[in-house]
This record gives sequence, C-alpha cells and structure tokens, in this order.
Amino acid sequence: MVLSCSIEMKSDMHFDYIILGSGAAGLSLAYRMASDSFFDDKTIAIIDQDAKDKNDRTWCYWEIGEGYFDKIVKKKWDEIQFYSKSLDKRQSVNPYQYKMISGIDFYNHTIPFIDKAGNFTFIRDRIISVNEAEDIVTVQTDSREFTAGLVLKSYPSSPKIDPGDHIYVDQHFKGYVIETEQPVFDPSCATFMDFRIEQKNDIRFLYVLPESETKALVEVALFSNSLLTQGDYNAILTDYIEEYLQISSYKIVEEEFGIIPMTTYDFSRHNTKRVFHIGTGGGIVKSSSGFAFKRIQQHSDQLIHCIKNDEELSKSYEGLHGRYVLYDKVMLHAMLENGVAGEDVFTSLFQKKSAPQIFKFLDHDTSFIEEIGIFRAPPMLPFTKSFFSVIGR
Ligand SMILES: Cc1cc2nc3c(=O)[nH]c(=O)nc-3n(C[C@H](O)[C@H](O)[C@H](O)COP(=O)(O)OP(=O)(O)OC[C@H]3O[C@@H](n4cnc5c(N)ncnc54)[C@H](O)[C@@H]3O)c2cc1C
Repeated sequence: MVLSCSIEMKSDMHFDYIILGSGAAGLSLAYRMASDSFFDDKTIAIIDQDAKDKNDRTWCYWEIGEGYFDKIVKKKWDEIQFYSKSLDKRQSVNPYQYKMISGIDFYNHTIPFIDKAGNFTFIRDRIISVNEAEDIVTVQTDSREFTAGLVLKSYPSSPKIDPGDHIYVDQHFKGYVIETEQPVFDPSCATFMDFRIEQKNDIRFLYVLPESETKALVEVALFSNSLLTQGDYNAILTDYIEEYLQISSYKIVEEEFGIIPMTTYDFSRHNTKRVFHIGTGGGIVKSSSGFAFKRIQQHSDQLIHCIKNDEELSKSYEGLHGRYVLYDKVMLHAMLENGVAGEDVFTSLFQKKSAPQIFKFLDHDTSFIEEIGIFRAPPMLPFTKSFFSVIGR
C-alpha cells in the first residue's frame, strides 16, 4: 500500500485538518485519529512528496510491557551491550525491552489502516508554502492549493538557527543490514553503543541490532557538524565489521542514511493559532540523544487529547520539555562546547548507572533525587561549568 494510489482529486479541497508529512509523526497522529470516533465526521488530508514505499529507516526505542505498535515490532531485546575503550558491560534492561521497528513495516501497517477509515485523503505532492489567514490556512503544493482550519506540520520550516543562541549539532548516521552464511550474531543482545572506534574529535559510535544469528543492522552515528562522504561512512562500517565483529564474509542487503538535528532551539516558537508543529519540526527529537520515535507517540497521544478537549495545543508538549530541556542543554554544552569527550560521558554513565536508570532519565520519568544521581556520574567539574554557561541562555 503506497500513497500514490490514494491521491484523490475532490472538487472541494478544504479539510478540517491537514497533516503535512506522512513520516513517523504524521502517520502516528493520523493513526490515532483514524482509531478515534471523535474524528469520524472530520475531513483530514495527509500531504507528502514521498511514496513511503521504501525501508528508509529503522526505529529503536525502549518500553515497559506491550506498546502501541507491538504488532509490527521486528525484534525485542532484554539485554544491551555498551562498549568503550575502558568499559565492556552487558546488562539486562528489565523492566524495559529494547524494541525495533522497520520503517517500511510502519508505513505498510499505518497507511492502509488510516485509508480504511474513509475520511482521510492522501495527497502525494511537494509542499511549497503554508500561509495562514485569520480563520484559514492555505497549503500550496506543486500542483494546487488546499485549505484547512488546522495544519499539523511535521518537518522543520528551515528555521534559521543562530549558533550563538542555541547549541546545534547534526546527528548523522549510516547503516548496513548485513547477512552472513555462518551464525555470528547473538540475537539475545543489542549493542546500544560502541565507542571503541577512533573518535577523530567527534562523538562517534556504532550500534549493532541483531535480528537473528545471521542478520543484523550495523550502524555508525556521529554527532558533528561536518558530514562525511559516503565513502568515509562505508569505510567506518566495513572496518568495524571486520575488526570488532570479526566478520570477513557478509552480504549487504539494505542501507540507510539519515541526518537529524540535535539542538536546544525552540521549534515551538513557529507554532501559530492554526499551524502547529509535530515530530522533528516540533522539536520532538530529544536534543541530547536524537531519540524521537517514542516521544512522537507520547506527543501524538497528548495532541489528540488537546484537540478533543479544545485545549491549547501547546499543552501537548507536557512531559516532553520542562526541566529536562535544561539537562539536555547542559549535556550538549559539556560535550560540544566544553570539550568533554562524548565517550567519557557515556562510559561514566553506563559504569555508574544501570540501563533502566538511564532509560528512565531519558524518558523524563525520574525524580529530582534520581536526576542528581545521574548528573554525578559524568565528570563533575565541566558539567558544573556547563550548567552555569547555559543557564538563562
Ligand atoms: C535513518 C534514521 C534512523 C532513525 N532511528 C531512530 C531510532 O532508532 N529511534 C528514534 O527514536 N529515532 C530515530 N530517528 C529519529 C526520528 O525518530 C525519525 O527521524 C522520525 O522519522 C521523525 O519523524 P518525523 O515525522 O518528524 O519526520 P519524518 O519521518 O522524516 O517525516 C517527515 C515527512 O515529511 C515529508 N516532507 C518533508 N518536506 C516535505 C515537503 N516540502 N513536501 C512534502 N513532504 C515533505 C517527508 O517526505 C517525510 O515523509 C531516526 C531518523 C533517521 C533519519
């Protein structure tokens, strides 16, 4: 099921809601709307330039118990591994499980479900502009104009991020899904972070997500503002597979590449009465880690609640921001502007704290006392300096 078959040219191109972007955020929101009778009599359009018929990314996240998209979870792990030059730690993530979903499974699961609801119109086109008047928003695409009372926009409006005011770094990553003839992977454990590779003044790590003894996604992630050439990413991956995974014979069956912003920039400042930002465009990516999938689910639930109860949509950010924005700023500042090696920060965290404690912190579920414990794990002095540098910034 792809978007291309769902383009419908109605005479009336006005909708109650238009969702811009049918990626993780747009489809997660639409999926909830399609499941909720409140939206049965609403007209909803979803516009995306892409057919969403490729496996363009893999999402991992941790969760306690059964989750919203468990049906399409490809693999779950009860244990994760952390490596750096000074730490080799495998541990249980109980009560969490670390889960993996393939992009294509998500699109193939959500799009037909949404389409079946009958009140959604999928439009495959490039969005050029979004203009708001007093009581209507006009969305201009390459081929025509659409209007709506409320627009939910999931990709950034190219906000000019002034590095003087905001900490900004790209997380860029490239992955190979590889298959081997011999059983070489341990499918009971995912490598969450492996910092043993040369850091070259960046923050560089790999993760390995084994689906079976013969198939795994091996991905390198870098926090830096200079992208590498595809050849450089490939070299890191092939060296790692040979040197650290000790695999000499394998087949690359899929590749993925992506860039996501890690920034303390407040994307919500672009929200207006009738244009509200979701997903990456709404600043839902966690700035200190780049994780977003689970946060998108939480935000979608909260947004649906706000729409149904006629509440200010900004309330939907509750729990996603708050004091944790300050913690993210401190963490990013310490690593990017205060010279603390990312490898050292994550090594000390994983040395002193358990994976479930770290997950809980990243989920914004910790108490203040637990947070002090987390902040005492990495090198104290530079973190304290960063704290005072970012306060009020
Ligand atoms: C390769 C990759 C791996 C990731 N892995 C993880 C992970 O393991 N865990 C995690 O939590 N997060 C992960 N993320 C981060 C985050 O979860 C994803 O980026 C997620 O897809 C963000 O959802 P979104 O809806 O904001 O953006 P997207 O899913 O990128 O959707 C945006 C949509 O907008 C459309 N669009 C953009 N501009 C236009 C335009 N002008 N006209 C029409 N359509 C347009 C795009 O085609 C796209 O479909 C990953 C990101 C990438 C890129």
